[in-house]
Amino acid sequence: MNKFLKLSITLTSAMILSGCMSGKMSPQQESTLGAQQEQQMLSKVKLIHSGQYYNAVRNVGSRIASVSGRPDFQWRYHLVNNSKTANAFVLPGGKVFVYSGLFKYASNEAELAAVIGHEVAHALRSHGVKSAARQQKAGLVGALLQVGMGVAGINKQTAQTVNKVYGQSATLGYIRPYSRQNETAADSIGLMLMAEAGYDPRAALSFWNKFGKQGGRQVPEYMSTHPAPASRIANIKALMPHAMALYKKSRYRRR
Ligand SMILES: [Zn+2]
Repeated sequence: MNKFLKLSITLTSAMILSGCMSGKMSPQQESTLGAQQEQQMLSKVKLIHSGQYYNAVRNVGSRIASVSGRPDFQWRYHLVNNSKTANAFVLPGGKVFVYSGLFKYASNEAELAAVIGHEVAHALRSHGVKSAARQQKAGLVGALLQVGMGVAGINKQTAQTVNKVYGQSATLGYIRPYSRQNETAADSIGLMLMAEAGYDPRAALSFWNKFGKQGGRQVPEYMSTHPAPASRIANIKALMPHAMALYKKSRYRRR
């Protein structure tokens, strides 16, 4: 990588982060940020590229994307080879990662669709970027931006530092807890998405019931701000008549 390319990447990164800070990013900026974070993640995790779980993720993912109303997003679905982690997350612009450990709770495609619908909803609502804006008030993203600008004065450590900045921004992108309000919105929108994609929305209840009972010290993304399982279930139940109506007229069921 030459100096000028490094400089331009650093500046792009700083500009994207400053977009994050205001909570207002163009779809293009979000897509660029998401693609960078995706590359960062892909260098850290081991993926599965075949088999039943892989096929399920791809199949459910493409159906949910098809009803997302955002064909301009570059939807991507990755299955991470980690059976100990029951987790899933999404990066800005629609890059979804599902850990194989999630299949301990998702027993069929409809239950998987509850999770993927939830993650896709976060991306549609730009929750990742908006949460970064909130974090900026705590100075975290601001500090990252300083680092980003600092390395614009090219030196030997530039590449290393840029990598570090990317690493931190990727971390911000996926482990940052969403607010409880965002979680509820993602549940609600996700339920409608799965129904429209032809997956029985009642599977969301069975999934979250099983998932809510999980023990251990894992705190998956969607549990991180833990809407109490009871209130999550109550919200989903209240929306069920509407979801069932969408499900019944889903184009995927009329085939
Ligand atoms: Zn969530």
